[in-house]
Amino acid sequence: MQDAPPSPERLEELCRAKGLAITVQRRALLEELCRRADHPSADDLFDSVRPKVPGLSRTTVYRVLDTLVDVGVLRKVAHSGGTARFDPRLERHHHLVCERCGGLSDLPDSSVPKLPLQGIVAPGFRIVDYSIQFNGTCAACGGGARRIPIPKERNKSWPRTSRTPRRTRT
Ligand SMILES: [Zn+2]
Ligand SMILES: [Zn+2]
Repeated sequence: MQDAPPSPERLEELCRAKGLAITVQRRALLEELCRRADHPSADDLFDSVRPKVPGLSRTTVYRVLDTLVDVGVLRKVAHSGGTARFDPRLERHHHLVCERCGGLSDLPDSSVPKLPLQGIVAPGFRIVDYSIQFNGTCAACGGGARRIPIPKERNKSWPRTSRTPRRTRT
């Protein structure tokens, strides 16, 4: 089973625990992040939050997000070649990245075997956690719509085969 989805209330509580006041901007960004599951970039967030927060600037969004990442209220997810995306889910989980549209979503299956961190060799590096990125094609790009091919030829041949015994009566 997967952990409960992140809630703005829980993240705000975490902010307070880290000594961070809940400003209008912080609240709006946390609410927006918890509302969506697409791991938006700072620019995506700016576009969707701007109408709700008068006078909000892009720079403020970048600064607020950086602060929230610094104190550990959000996670920054960077994937190859893409801009940084933000994730309100703090528990270890894995991501599905669409190679066609760049879509990034959480892997709903939490049954992925856990890696023994102690057994991993990385000289000069202290591993604290890991996240697996699975690449592929999302449903919107045709990845989830894979149908089991129905053998048309065989379908047509079925009635014919069933009639065969009758024809043998001569
Ligand atoms: Zn896609
Ligand atoms: Zn995620």
